[in-house]
Amino acid sequence: MNLTPFYKQNYEQRLAMLKEKLGLTDVDEALITGKTATLGNQTIENYLMDFSIPEGVAVNFKINGKEKVVPMATEEPSVIAAASNGAKIIAAGGGIQASTTERLMMGQVLMANVQKPVQLTQRLLQYKPEILQTANDAHPSIVKRGGGAKKIRVRKLAHQFISLDIFIDTKEAMGANMINAMLEAVAKLLKVKLGQTSLMAILSNLADECLATATCRIPVKVLTTKQLNGKEVAQRIVLASEAAQVDPYRAATHNKGIMNGIDVVVMASGNDWRAIESSVHAYAARDGHYRGLSCWQIENDFLIGNLTLPLPVGFVGGSIKLNQKAQLNHRILQVSTAKELEEVLVSVGLAQNLAALKALVSEGIQRGHMHLQAKSLLLSVGATTAELADAQAKLESAPVIDQQTARQILKELRGENNE
Ligand code: NDP
Repeated sequence: MNLTPFYKQNYEQRLAMLKEKLGLTDVDEALITGKTATLGNQTIENYLMDFSIPEGVAVNFKINGKEKVVPMATEEPSVIAAASNGAKIIAAGGGIQASTTERLMMGQVLMANVQKPVQLTQRLLQYKPEILQTANDAHPSIVKRGGGAKKIRVRKLAHQFISLDIFIDTKEAMGANMINAMLEAVAKLLKVKLGQTSLMAILSNLADECLATATCRIPVKVLTTKQLNGKEVAQRIVLASEAAQVDPYRAATHNKGIMNGIDVVVMASGNDWRAIESSVHAYAARDGHYRGLSCWQIENDFLIGNLTLPLPVGFVGGSIKLNQKAQLNHRILQVSTAKELEEVLVSVGLAQNLAALKALVSEGIQRGHMHLQAKSLLLSVGATTAELADAQAKLESAPVIDQQTARQILKELRGENNE
């Protein structure tokens, strides 16, 4: 299928081309064009349509003494319920305390095949004032805002690489574009002044000088389940957190549970969730071994939770300003700085992690999941809103919860089972 020169067409032309080439119907076209096309068309290349993801809100969050409603954009049932549940348990112990470090992002000018690494390192360090000045001259407005390039570091890497790391305070922005502009200017400086070529100049998403921490202290009695007392649940949560420290297979799923909550808020806030994903997972492997990001311990009769993550999000920049729903979500969250957004995100990660671990070490994750999954299954096989309540109750108590059973239950409810 040859669609060139596709990218040169306007929106209507692209749609007409796709319609013709792919045999799309008028119904397909109505679905595609049903929403306003303006924002997408201005934001990305070869825009076709808006792909919507449901947004809901998690409740029960108390962060640094303030109650928060947290918007979450997700297609996964149970994420919002679990976050709200985790937040409710933590609120019983007084809520979450969250804090952030200063927001320093890091960018690299990477040099390859360096024959004399010791000399080059010395020269780069001698050039520190010029390097910082050049970086700041490349984006002077961030300096006026009180930010800009603050410090450098030189790292000698394996295979004759040298990385010149520049740490930049990007204030309220995530800063990728401004950092990259600064780094490219520094790469030119190195060529002109030192005759040193570079392989590339780009930010690092491992923002380990832009950290957020959430802690909580939960009386163990609030963890009591039908089968286990609160102390037993707490002890099993501590063991689960230890398992994620020693086994990368467990750690990957442990951290996925944390990111279930964080990604969906990152998305609702208009930020780049791929950047946050790569940042967090790289941080999880910072000592060379991939580990769980949270830590749970028992002190007297309290379960103590702690989560520290790099969260290089922006409150401005990228497409955040253009995205009216992201702006609305900032208002729902009642945040007005990137640091406040970081505090919410790390708190959501802690609550989400608690909910997942508590379910896993007590009744198992499936019971809660399948309750919500049953509804999706019934809708996917054509249940109407009027049928849903009865059908869901029947499906949840069925020995097997799958599409076939969902179809069978609907047939029975509709009296279609007499053939
Ligand atoms: P922008 O390029 O949009 O830069 C931030 C903008 O916000 C600047 O124009 C700045 O204005 C303005 N601004 C207004 N108020 C403030 C304030 N208080 N503090 C800071 N800036 C302010 O976005 P970023 O540089 O943040 O880059 C983020 C984008 O880059 C995301 O869309 C991301 O997807 C993308 N990206 C990510 C990469 C990665 O993660 N590896 C790589 C490349 C791009 P002024 O110009 O006047 O300073």
